[in-house]
Amino acid sequence: MSHAAEALAGQEFAHDLPTTPFDPALAAGRAGKIKVATIGLCGCWGCTLSLLDLDERLLPLMSKITLLRSSITDIKRINERCVVGFVEGGVANEENIETLEHFRENCDVLISVGACAVWGGVPAMRNVVPLSECLDLAYVNSLTSVPGVRPTIPLHPDIPRITTKVYPCHEVVKMDYFIPGCPPDGDAIYKVLDDLVHGRPFDLPISINRYD
Ligand code: SF4
Repeated sequence: MSHAAEALAGQEFAHDLPTTPFDPALAAGRAGKIKVATIGLCGCWGCTLSLLDLDERLLPLMSKITLLRSSITDIKRINERCVVGFVEGGVANEENIETLEHFRENCDVLISVGACAVWGGVPAMRNVVPLSECLDLAYVNSLTSVPGVRPTIPLHPDIPRITTKVYPCHEVVKMDYFIPGCPPDGDAIYKVLDDLVHGRPFDLPISINRYD
């Protein structure tokens, strides 16, 4: 065993990373705002980009809400309870399961955003063939295999183990609401956030939903 491995042996590790403390004035300004967070599981980030499609409508919203964990803030872990959590992507590996369960524990309301989160979407296309065939096609008999190089299926403790199937989020934890689309329209996300900051119940008219 190496010196480094000996030093680490027997220690327990958590995924919680140290967070930079907020400036007190900034923290006070955020204290009264509605806390919102987003996570991306197995998706393509297209749904997260729909959030940016709110364009200039984001500015007045930001006086009422504060974004904690999100790919926009680059905050990796929720460090305080959130009112709403938006989830992009389906569940395709063990890390996705852990991330989603932690999100559920720390958000009052969870919303599946986009086809991948709602029913599995494009990644769930692998559900129609056995996992072994997927791995074979991706790594063993792949079109991009290098001739003469022994094909290897990646296997390492640092790589999250993929699940046998891709699952929609509601099959792993309770989801409260669903915004369909691939990706959903920015107008739909805006409507949900605008209702939230004005204390109105979740109401997504069919006219701004999309199913493609
Ligand atoms: Fe990407 Fe569509 Fe899945 Fe959203 S629903 S993550 S846009 S593939």
